[in-house]
Amino acid sequence: SVPLSFFGGLGGASKAGVLIKGSNYLEALAETEIVVMDKTGTLTKGTFKVKEVQPALEGAREVISKEELLEITAYAESYSNHPISLSIQKEYGKELDKGRLESTQELAGHGVHAVIDGADIYAGNEKLMQQQKISFTHAAQIGTIVHVARDNQYLGYILIADEVKDDAAACISGLKAEGVKRIVMLTGDRRETAEYVASQIGLTEVHSGLLPGDKVDEVEKLIQSKSPKGKLVFVGDGINDAPVLARADIGIAMGGLGSDAAIEAADVVIMTDEPSRIATAMKISRKTLGIVK
Ligand code: ADP
Ligand code: MG
Repeated sequence: SVPLSFFGGLGGASKAGVLIKGSNYLEALAETEIVVMDKTGTLTKGTFKVKEVQPALEGAREVISKEELLEITAYAESYSNHPISLSIQKEYGKELDKGRLESTQELAGHGVHAVIDGADIYAGNEKLMQQQKISFTHAAQIGTIVHVARDNQYLGYILIADEVKDDAAACISGLKAEGVKRIVMLTGDRRETAEYVASQIGLTEVHSGLLPGDKVDEVEKLIQSKSPKGKLVFVGDGINDAPVLARADIGIAMGGLGSDAAIEAADVVIMTDEPSRIATAMKISRKTLGIVK
């Protein structure tokens, strides 16, 4: 049977914008030892914007114009719903002639592959370029980089920026105040951007360049490392996160921008866009259980 006070706890949490799918999760939240967080859409807004279109150079000459580089990338990305892809399509802003597109394929954690006007286009991160054995410019700027290649020729890159949520630093300090021992950020994005975000919000443990499967492996390792009673919480926005949400003791989805799949797979849903509500939920859990810190 469920103690009456749990109904009060679940109700209190829901008033605070936190949907907890059962009293067992409300109870488990009080035992949180490790919090693992996805970067994009969880700690950052996940609303990307194109900042720069940089064609590759051959001597002093650009191998392609900025306009054409943006156009090719917009075509290659036209069937993807990834926030990166949406930002490129928005920047391009023109109608696409889908007849030029023979095929498109999403490459999870890497980018996209498409055949446009009979040419093979790859658009994505450094890992994708390395996999295709295409040498690329190492961009020094902070941000997400989409490198583009056509028939094995490097064409340049597009720099895309995301913003840290106003509430992200409060989230990290709130979790520390609730006594969480380890807070870890996992991301498929590159190291430079991941470390920059972490440094802005007071987070020190970061694993970057991860594929969706690598995230499950990291969570598995962290679960092995914790005390038997302690719980591992994973927080994500659901883009490629469903397997990790399911593996954690408590899977938390950010419901603001999050996907339906994530909300389905999660044990707890934050109904606002504020990750600081995770600490609020832990506080309510402790109060409900009568644990005084
Ligand atoms: P995160 O772990 O930050 O949520 P994802 O797993 O969705 O990120 O993607 C990891 C990385 O893969 C991105 O940072 C980007 O470099 C690359 N990527 C994924 N999808 C695309 C896409 N549609 N276009 C270009 N790059 C992409
Ligand atoms: Mg993601």
